[in-house]
Amino acid sequence: MNHYIVVTEKNRINIESELLGINNDKRGSNIVFLDPHHGLLRNFTIKLYQIRLYYTQCINDNIFILLDQENKEISYIIAQIFMLMNIHVVYLNEKKNYTINKIRQLLSNDIKTNRLFHRSYSTECDSNYYSVFKHIFSISSGLKKESDMESVIKKTLLSITLQDLIVFDDFFPKLRLLNKRSLDSIVNDWAFNCNTYNKLQLLQLGIYILSKNAQNTQQYATALVLVSEAHYHQDNKFHNFYHAIDVLQATHYLFSTWDNLVTDKNIKMTLLISALLHDSAHTGSNNNLLLQNKNLIKEFGSEDSILETLHFKILTHIIKCMVNTTNYKKDELNLLENFNFDVSEELILATDMKKHDAFLQKLKNYDLSNKESLFKYKMIIKAADISNVTRPLEASAQWGVRISQEFMTYNLLTTEKKNDQLICDDVDKFGNKTYDKRTLGELTVKDCINLEPGVCKSQIFFIEVFAKEFFTLLRDKFINENASLKQLVVNLDDNYSFWEKRASE
Ligand SMILES: [Zn+2]
Repeated sequence: MNHYIVVTEKNRINIESELLGINNDKRGSNIVFLDPHHGLLRNFTIKLYQIRLYYTQCINDNIFILLDQENKEISYIIAQIFMLMNIHVVYLNEKKNYTINKIRQLLSNDIKTNRLFHRSYSTECDSNYYSVFKHIFSISSGLKKESDMESVIKKTLLSITLQDLIVFDDFFPKLRLLNKRSLDSIVNDWAFNCNTYNKLQLLQLGIYILSKNAQNTQQYATALVLVSEAHYHQDNKFHNFYHAIDVLQATHYLFSTWDNLVTDKNIKMTLLISALLHDSAHTGSNNNLLLQNKNLIKEFGSEDSILETLHFKILTHIIKCMVNTTNYKKDELNLLENFNFDVSEELILATDMKKHDAFLQKLKNYDLSNKESLFKYKMIIKAADISNVTRPLEASAQWGVRISQEFMTYNLLTTEKKNDQLICDDVDKFGNKTYDKRTLGELTVKDCINLEPGVCKSQIFFIEVFAKEFFTLLRDKFINENASLKQLVVNLDDNYSFWEKRASE
């Protein structure tokens, strides 16, 4: 689908009919006009978030920003916050057809690009910020921080509430927020299932978990969760914002049920924010596939934990982006100014599955008289990251569908199909993937198996190779400090027996 945000007061009717004429996608076009003089930055930011909420972006979607003239603040917002969206800025020109031809040209240049391939391997990415290279190098050195601009952007972000993101129009599906009184019981339950919530509710749950652990920070937590959401590729089937909120909730649950493990507020925040961003900018591929890119490794300087290093760089970018300001009240600043980057880096690197066996050995040899907490924090985020198989069966099966579907995109990167365009036609007009008119969260276990028959075997494989020994050891070592680990292993064993029985039928 093509999304157009047009910032002008002139010739709106002509522009609209010309844009509708481009029509190269059966899902049609989404055109929004913004007033260049009143609240532009805020309205622009809200529109981009609404596109993310209402249209689950497909890998072949395009976003065009049409401007009368250059606007530094808009360029800055795109580069700093929406760097993962496929955004083209085009200038409206008096000359007849100039703008439309430019859009057509961009579309035709783009059409053969397999973006998944592009963002995993490409070293160039001029029209947008879609490649992993851009993330790493523009963040480390490229984009100059402009302090006056930063404070305008932050003020804009802090002024946005979840209510602002709701579209009140009959054309759109109604997105409702969750009842405030139900939030506490939702986030403190291991039966939590992200797949049953819409994206607006996921934002709400993320904000709730952050602000619950640091008082009086609603506004700040909102800005942080919104920016975090924008740093996940929406078209990944598994490594997306659903997984981020799932790991955030699991991390919150495991440290809240762990006796006296985390009492320091700053460490709590470090754990939670690291969980929220632990897979940010995930390319939808994996480290082994990325290692095929020799240029990347040369620039990167290492073959170790490429993706995890990327996630940590994105986290650093986001937090530094949000801390240096004079706009915040002192207590809000505390949320991030004491963020522990050293601990966060260790936590995120601990999620690299290549290190799984080494962690298992450490866990086996763990001496219970050890008073050091960092190892336990690492075990928490690692457990949270692979905890899908320890949730109740239905949630577990739905996550299994997600991971099977993401594996199919890995195949695209390894087969000769590399240059084919990825398509997504099994979506509704809002880009939501549906199964018999239902969303993933509405599917029963039986539906999940019908949809992805490979799910039985892949669940058995994951439990046998990674999860069973890890969670059993974790329970045995720490049962006296955290009784909730017992339930995780009970679920895991139940799920395993179910999948084994199904596989033998
Ligand atoms: Zn993860």
